[in-house]
Amino acid sequence: MTRPSTLSELKASGYEPRTIREELRSNLIARLAGDEAAAPLFEGIIGYDDSVIPELENALLCGHHIIILGERGQAKTRLIRGLVSLLDPVVPAVAGCEINDDPFAPVCARCRRRVGEDGDELAIAWTPRADRYGEKLATPDVTIADLIGEIDPVKIAEGRHMADEEAMHFGLIPRSHRGVFAINELPDLTERVQVGLFNLMEERDLQIRGYKVRLPVDVLVVATANPEDYTSRGRIVTPLKDRFDVQIRTHYPRTLEDEIAILDLEVPGTPRGGRPLRVPGFMKEIVARVTMAARVAPEVNQSSGVSVRATISNYETLLANAEKRAVRCDEPEIAPRISDLHAIVASTSGKLELEYSFEQDKETDVIDRLLAVAVKATFDEHITLSDLQPVIDYMGEGWGVAVSDSMPSSEYTEGVASITGLHAVIDTLGRFESPGLMASAAEFVFEGLHLNKKVNRERAGGRLSYGT
Ligand SMILES: [Zn+2]
Repeated sequence: MTRPSTLSELKASGYEPRTIREELRSNLIARLAGDEAAAPLFEGIIGYDDSVIPELENALLCGHHIIILGERGQAKTRLIRGLVSLLDPVVPAVAGCEINDDPFAPVCARCRRRVGEDGDELAIAWTPRADRYGEKLATPDVTIADLIGEIDPVKIAEGRHMADEEAMHFGLIPRSHRGVFAINELPDLTERVQVGLFNLMEERDLQIRGYKVRLPVDVLVVATANPEDYTSRGRIVTPLKDRFDVQIRTHYPRTLEDEIAILDLEVPGTPRGGRPLRVPGFMKEIVARVTMAARVAPEVNQSSGVSVRATISNYETLLANAEKRAVRCDEPEIAPRISDLHAIVASTSGKLELEYSFEQDKETDVIDRLLAVAVKATFDEHITLSDLQPVIDYMGEGWGVAVSDSMPSSEYTEGVASITGLHAVIDTLGRFESPGLMASAAEFVFEGLHLNKKVNRERAGGRLSYGT
């Protein structure tokens, strides 16, 4: 069946236009009523099933403009982009219209004129849903012209009058007509632009160079903001704040499992350069716990937050450091270990904003402390210290162990066999039969002993020596 290509065909097809709110609402209801096997509404969003998503669904059922408040890296943008999947796959529009006009009720002057001229022969185009989503990161230099529109000097030069709507160059919001428009970091818009935005949302008109242009665009506005910026006095003009009907608060993953689930989702576990990734569960836990420890650390500015991107880039960096070893030592697997963790100082640094009173502290010292917290918590979770008494006794006799992130995994195998009791404890961690996993588990045990003050440790970059 071919799609209607003229207004008369569209009328004959029985198509009934819907507002953006009606469309989102009815598609959401269809999704909610659908079977469990239907694609999830917010794919790739973890940890919001009982908090954020139910609130978002309610807002969509009500047709509310939405403000999403959250610290950085809480999947705010991804949530909003997920709304696109609730739009109809295609909708008819006046062909050639810059703002995706509804053929039955065009808004722009040009289309209104063309309906008069072409009548039922008016050409129809079909707009895919991806084209009905607009997004802008707010900054102080975003102008009314960017968001709403401007008189186009070229059109004036061609002889159009200033008050002629057809002399307008449309901004991003009119271009999202019959769609969703997202503004990230709303408080960074200047007051003037906020007022312009309010007028468009509330009064459905705009003022350009003193001319009032009525432009009843149909847009669902979803904005995001850091909660502290949004609530601090004077950052948002009151009428605009009132215009957002619902305020939804996002949060960081509330459990270790969720933090790891995000890591697994974002970083593919597929082989690299033909080498399989063999990542012990405790290494993933350590990476996730570094971020979680940073989110409660007094040295870290918590109002700006610690993004889940910290977890993701730390994990990628850890894998990269392990892959280098696999390549250099020509090993058949990539198995990250404790001596690789020094590499994540670089990937963590840019993700933390230190509190003013701690600014004289070295960032690397703060990250070292977070790493120690994460490794110790993970060790204590998985290993019973008393099981390691034979290893502690062995080290107490004056034996030392030196490891590094460049040491081939095969060199660990003999050591693990010769230290009484070590292999038995490693066996409690899982089936760590390969040299890479064995090396990783051995380092985990030694570092845990050090953090529990059972053995000393000296460190230089990726080189670690343990002894008493
Ligand atoms: Zn138009």
